[in-house]
Amino acid sequence: MALIPEIINVFIENTKNIYNYTVFQLKHPSFTNIYYCVLLAYLFCFTLEVVLPKQRDHGLLSRKGFWLDTFYVFFNDVIIYIIGLFGLSAVTELVFLKTLGLFNIHSLKVVDITSWNPILQVGIMFIIQDFCEFWAHFFLHRFDFLWAFHKIHHAQETLGAGSTRRFHFVEMFIFKPIIYIPFAMIGYSATDYFLFQITVQNVWGFFTHTNIKVKWGFLNYIINTPETHSWHHAKNIPRHYGVNYASILNIWDLLFGYYYLPKDIKPKLGVPDQKEVPTTFLKQMIYPFKLIFSGKYKSTTGNQTSIKPPKL
Ligand SMILES: [Zn+2]
Ligand SMILES: [Zn+2]
Repeated sequence: MALIPEIINVFIENTKNIYNYTVFQLKHPSFTNIYYCVLLAYLFCFTLEVVLPKQRDHGLLSRKGFWLDTFYVFFNDVIIYIIGLFGLSAVTELVFLKTLGLFNIHSLKVVDITSWNPILQVGIMFIIQDFCEFWAHFFLHRFDFLWAFHKIHHAQETLGAGSTRRFHFVEMFIFKPIIYIPFAMIGYSATDYFLFQITVQNVWGFFTHTNIKVKWGFLNYIINTPETHSWHHAKNIPRHYGVNYASILNIWDLLFGYYYLPKDIKPKLGVPDQKEVPTTFLKQMIYPFKLIFSGKYKSTTGNQTSIKPPKL
């Protein structure tokens, strides 16, 4: 089959499969159903915000952007996963295989760990996923073109559980299918990757953005908490391209020198050119493209994440 029709075919087939899977899941609520687990995680973090609010200068539902964030949760976790991300992961696998085929390699699988001890499998997948996400996040900050998209996530002056999903879907389209490749190399399908991704990474994201008044002490050195992640969203930081890129394990930031958690100051959330970023969904979807096509995305380099120029 010619490559383009094959790509389209793989995309449509996989999208159809995940659509059917999603519809089935949504019709059958249970505690082992991933969509309802995600919803429960959101409600749990939301409850924490009711009980232990950190910023009290806004009501829970009247937090600036609360409804927009809630829409993003639905849009990114359901719509984008169904109509794009899953199919794209399968297409990426196909293109990789075709490219490797030129060198007479016909499988991405280097080792098959799918029959190993389940705990070991989860551990390996977790480390791979989290390490790749860390670098993907770093690149989103480091390169102007990618920052134009990621800026949508950072242009938030308040955070709440739903803030985790306020980001441009192009971010996911660029990185998630690439991060699937190491999963394919150890024997997993796009479905396995999808399920692992949504349950582990997406659920944790709610927690790290939760607006709660809790000190996490030594845990901050190990895992990404609302404390460390609020500094990731701060603009009063010493690094030009940001700090605390971790998804779940803060050890990557410690290891590569990006860990930042000052004791005596508070994070000022948002981006330096906050006013330039639109506050409605459709405009936010268009904004990065406007920046890129007008060439303005390059001029945002000077005020990426931090207010001050880097001292490092
Ligand atoms: Zn970021
Ligand atoms: Zn965030």
